[in-house]
Amino acid sequence: MIINLHTSTKKDFIIEEENLTKIKANSLNALFSQYETILNIIENQLIIEKNYQSINLSEKVLNSVLINDNNILGFALFKPNGDLYLTNNKSDEKFPNLLEKEESRKSFEYTMEKNSVVLGRTYYSDIRKKFILPIRKAIRDKKGEILFVLSIIIDANKIQYFSKVEKYKHHVFRGFDYFYQIYNENANEKNNPYEKPVPKELLENIKESVEKKYNKSVEEIKNSEEIITFESKNYNSSDIELVSSKYLKAYELWVITQIPINEVNKVFFKKLVYLFILLVIIYFILYYLFSVINHSEEKKQKALEFQAYHDYLTNLYNRLFIIKKFKIEKNKPFSLFFINVDNFKSINNSHGHNYGDDVLKEISLRLIELKNSNDYLIRYSGDEFIFIVYDTNLENIKELASKILKSLRQPYNINSVTFTLSCSIGIARYPDNAENFNEIKRYADIAMYESKKEKNKYTIFEDSVKDIYIKKLLMEYELKSSLKNNEMYMMYQPQIDINGNLYGVEALVRWENKNLGFVSPDKFIEIAEATGFMKKLGDFIINTSLKEICEIQKLCNKKFQLSINISVKQFIEKDFNTELLNMIKKSGFDIKNVTLEITENVCIEDIDYIINLLKEFKQHSIKISLDDFGTGYSSLSLLKKLPIDELKIDKSFVDDILVNSSSKKMIENIISIGKNLDLVILAEGIEELEQKNLLESYGTTLFQGYYYSKPLKKDELLKFINKK
Ligand code: C2E
Ligand code: CA
Ligand code: CA
Repeated sequence: MIINLHTSTKKDFIIEEENLTKIKANSLNALFSQYETILNIIENQLIIEKNYQSINLSEKVLNSVLINDNNILGFALFKPNGDLYLTNNKSDEKFPNLLEKEESRKSFEYTMEKNSVVLGRTYYSDIRKKFILPIRKAIRDKKGEILFVLSIIIDANKIQYFSKVEKYKHHVFRGFDYFYQIYNENANEKNNPYEKPVPKELLENIKESVEKKYNKSVEEIKNSEEIITFESKNYNSSDIELVSSKYLKAYELWVITQIPINEVNKVFFKKLVYLFILLVIIYFILYYLFSVINHSEEKKQKALEFQAYHDYLTNLYNRLFIIKKFKIEKNKPFSLFFINVDNFKSINNSHGHNYGDDVLKEISLRLIELKNSNDYLIRYSGDEFIFIVYDTNLENIKELASKILKSLRQPYNINSVTFTLSCSIGIARYPDNAENFNEIKRYADIAMYESKKEKNKYTIFEDSVKDIYIKKLLMEYELKSSLKNNEMYMMYQPQIDINGNLYGVEALVRWENKNLGFVSPDKFIEIAEATGFMKKLGDFIINTSLKEICEIQKLCNKKFQLSINISVKQFIEKDFNTELLNMIKKSGFDIKNVTLEITENVCIEDIDYIINLLKEFKQHSIKISLDDFGTGYSSLSLLKKLPIDELKIDKSFVDDILVNSSSKKMIENIISIGKNLDLVILAEGIEELEQKNLLESYGTTLFQGYYYSKPLKKDELLKFINKK
């Protein structure tokens, strides 16, 4: 680019210089042809009627030419022998014999050879104190004999063909003897450039560059009168100059224009500086624009990122932040608080979602107050918050947890409704409980569920809970393949009537897993219910019990009741009734001997639906037993509504009956109510005869417990029956 700039600057100079040379050459040509015209006019005047024969007439002719040109100092007529014939020059200048003087002889002779004008050598006139440029023409008679040589005397310094483009120098020299004709710098008497011809170097340069650059001879250039430009060493200073020249054929003159190459460089550097300044300005503008754009992009980016990782409602971090952005730092232990608002659903349900949103905002504000600057507060989901605190000291954590509970417990006043709420907190610690963030979060969640059981409470996760949790997970995992691996089987616990005869059996499921060993149904039924496995397991229980008891009944040729525990999850399953009826039908078991044991908690579900279902079973002669009565949520009014046949008194009451008088009283009441409702009373968990006797005295007619038999496998049950 810089090289380009230099080349283009030089090109500009060459164009300017060549134009200048052309203008100079043209104006010089015009000037000389004007003088030639003047000479022609005088020539005619002299020859007409041979005016030249009289000095007086001749002088008249010379004077008659109207001269407006200040450059013309006068005219002179010379005889062919070189002597002055006549001059109208007013000065006292003495003209020497032109043939005798070395400087003038050559051009004088040359004038006499030619028909056109010839320029005489420029010389210094001591009298005029001026440089004089003579222009001469030979005047011939009709036969061609030379009569005179007519000369115009021009003030060489006044030839104003130089317009002022100062940086350029202009010279004109003759083509035949290379003497300067016009030299426009500091010419004076002492420094007289007209005395010597042009330095040989310049001439050689012209010749050489013409031949090299233009591939032409000097003669060809002279003939074509074209402008040539080349670089040449200045013969005085040895500076390099850019030289341009044109040859004027008519007057045999080289018109030269010169400029030091330094001028080109000066302009080039100026341009370079401008360019540099321009570039700097552009750079700053671009930099400014760029930084403005960049800044606004950054702002946009930041806003987007803020949006992505923050909760719109509370401006706290959101769940995505935890998933994508939060990173554990090795040496920065922290505690993760999982905070869940208790019964938040009821606030939403009774006041609407907008109200709920306002409550959440208020909660977040209260939490923010308890936060240190480098802690994280996240709204994890609807009413769940995560608080990450960089402190694992147990005392500090407990203090903070209490503060949170207390703060959220303070009355809320929103839209002029005042109320209170509470939350449940679970806390896990890094790296004490786990190294992995998801695990920490899960443990805090587990601890939170522990708190949920009581509410308005915090629980710090302990590794003992972790074992339970891990066991639970393992159980979930093993349970899935338990049926496929034939790990499940049924046991049957006999139920005895007042006379000591077999009334029926309760089917109880058993699970023996190779990794977990024997797992209590109390534990795995809950997991089966929670993981959606209960339907499959329930079908297995029903089908196996029906099939095995059917076989036993055939083998011992006795009919008795089969009591099957039905989980709520099974009970509310769509089409449970039709499927159960189909299973019974398929097994060939007498439907009259089927009892379904349900617990009070089925009543949490749609009670009308349950009642209808029970009625339908009753129509098919299936008996319904209410298991664990008195342990959970139940009422007498409910008892009246449900179409049941049997009331099963829970083992926990039976356990206390001999020692605890209030238990005794309670059982007495329950039995009398049951009696009033025409229900059969069955007591389970009988381990001692006294228990049986007491219960019998209150009106219990059926008994089940270790006193009679533990739950038995199919073959053991057959033996048990056959012994009776
Ligand atoms: P549940 O229905 O109340 O079953 C009675 C439980 O008391 C049985 O425990 C039985 O083995 C135990 N038991 C009976 N008599 C005595 C006694 O004299 N002393 C003692 N210490 N225990 C006695 P199991 O079999 O461990 O079952 C526990 C619970 O698991 C059951 O309570 C029931 O809720 C559930 N469960 C068991 N099998 C099934 C089943 O096939 N289906 C469903 N849905 N739940 C079942
Ligand atoms: Ca039961
Ligand atoms: Ca029970």
